[in-house]
Amino acid sequence: MAKILCVLYPDPVEGYPSTYPRADIPILERYPNGQMLPTPKDIDFTPGQLLGSVSGELDLRKFLESQGHTLVVTSDKDGPDSVFERELVDADVVISQPFWPAYLTAERIAKAKNLKLAITAGIGSDHVDLQAAMEHGLTVAEVTFSNSISVAEHVVMAILALVRNYIPSYEWVVKGGWNIADCVQRSYDLEGMTVGTVGAGRIGLAVLRRLKPFDVKLHYTDKHRLDGDIERELDVTYHPDVESLLRVCDVVTINAPLHPETEGLFDDELIGKMKRGAYLVNTARGKICDRDAVVQALESGQLAGYAGDVWFPQPAPQSHPWRTMPHHGMTPHISGSSLSAQARYAAGTREILEGFFAGTPIREEYLIVDKGELAGAGAHSYTAGNATSGLEKVD
Ligand code: NDP
Repeated sequence: MAKILCVLYPDPVEGYPSTYPRADIPILERYPNGQMLPTPKDIDFTPGQLLGSVSGELDLRKFLESQGHTLVVTSDKDGPDSVFERELVDADVVISQPFWPAYLTAERIAKAKNLKLAITAGIGSDHVDLQAAMEHGLTVAEVTFSNSISVAEHVVMAILALVRNYIPSYEWVVKGGWNIADCVQRSYDLEGMTVGTVGAGRIGLAVLRRLKPFDVKLHYTDKHRLDGDIERELDVTYHPDVESLLRVCDVVTINAPLHPETEGLFDDELIGKMKRGAYLVNTARGKICDRDAVVQALESGQLAGYAGDVWFPQPAPQSHPWRTMPHHGMTPHISGSSLSAQARYAAGTREILEGFFAGTPIREEYLIVDKGELAGAGAHSYTAGNATSGLEKVD
C-alpha cells in the first residue's frame, strides 16, 4: 500500500466554504487542440467546489483510503521542520500545486527513498529539480492543459488592467474619490498596440486568439514555429529570438516554462531593450524575470506596468518588493486555480493515480520526466537541468 503526500494551500481565512456564488460550472467537451479532458473512472466532488485547499484534499481521500492507501495532506511545506519534509521520508507519491509549490530539491529527492511519482496538480513542474528526478528515476507528471485557458484569460485581464489603469481607478472609488484626471493620466486604449508573446504553446496561443478581436498587432517568438495556417488566421508575426520581438512590442506577455534557458531571462539588459513605456505581463514563472530589474524598470519608467501572478519563492515573503513597486497589477499565484480549473486538475490527478496503481502508462501529454529522461510534454518544452535553486538565499 502506498503513502501519498499531498501539499495544498491553506483554507480561506474564514473557513472552508459551505456555499458558492454559482451552482455549477460549464461542462467542456474537449480542450481547444482536441485533447481529451481528464478521464478518471470516477470523481466524488461537485465541479465548482474548492478542491485545491487543505480541506478540499483534491477530493482524493475516499478514493485512496478505500484502496488501503494512506493520504497525508498538509500546507506546511517549507524548512527542515515542516510536515512536508518529515513525511517525505517514506512517501511513495508527492502531489503539489504550483500555486503553493512543495519544492522537491535534489536534497529532498535524495532523502525520499520510496518516492516514485511527483504529480503537479496543474501545469509547470519547475518546483521539482528535474535533473535530480531524472537521476533518481522519478516520474514527474502534470495535468497538461487543465488550466491553460484559465491563465490565458488572466493574461488578457492583466494587459487591460495595466493599459487602462484599472486598478488605481478602482482604488479611487473605494477611497471615496471621483479623481478622473488622476485615473486617466496613465490610461490608454489597447487598440492599435503591438502585443507579443514569448512562448506560443497552449497559453500563448490562447492569448493571441483572445487578443485578436482587440485590433492589435500580434507577434510571437517560440522554439518551434506555429503552423502557417495559424499564423495567417491570426495575422501574427514570428520572431526568431526574444530581442527582436521586444524591440517592436508595446505589450509583452511571457508564456514559456521556467527551465535553464528562461531562468533570469528578463534581466536589466533585456528589459533595457524593450520599448520605453512597454508593459510586461508574466504569468509563467517569477524566476523568468529578475526581481530587482523589474522594480528598477518600473521606477525609471522603462516599464509602464508589470503584472502577473508568479513569484519566487511562493508564498512570497511579506517584504517582497513586487508587493509595493509602482504601477503593478500583481496577484498571488491564482490564475490557474480558478474553481473551474480545480475541477479539471483534480480529475486529472486522480486519472494519473488510477493509472499508477493499475500499472498502466500515464498519458504521454502528462509526462515531464519518465524513465530517467525528459518525456512527453516535458521533452517538448523543457531542457534538462534544475530551476529550483535560490531558496536558501531569499531575503
Ligand atoms: P506549453 O508547453 O504548451 O507552452 C510553452 C511554450 O513555450 C512552448 O511552445 C515552448 O516551446 C515555449 N518555450 C520554451 N522555452 C522557450 C524559450 N526559451 N523561448 C521561447 N519559447 C519557449 O505550456 P503552457 O502554455 O500550457 O504553459 C506555459 C507555462 O505557463 C508553464 O510551463 C507554466 O510555467 C506556466 N503556467 C502558469 C500557470 C499559472 O497559474 N500562472 C498555470 C499554468 C501554466 P516548444 O514547446 O515549441 O519547444
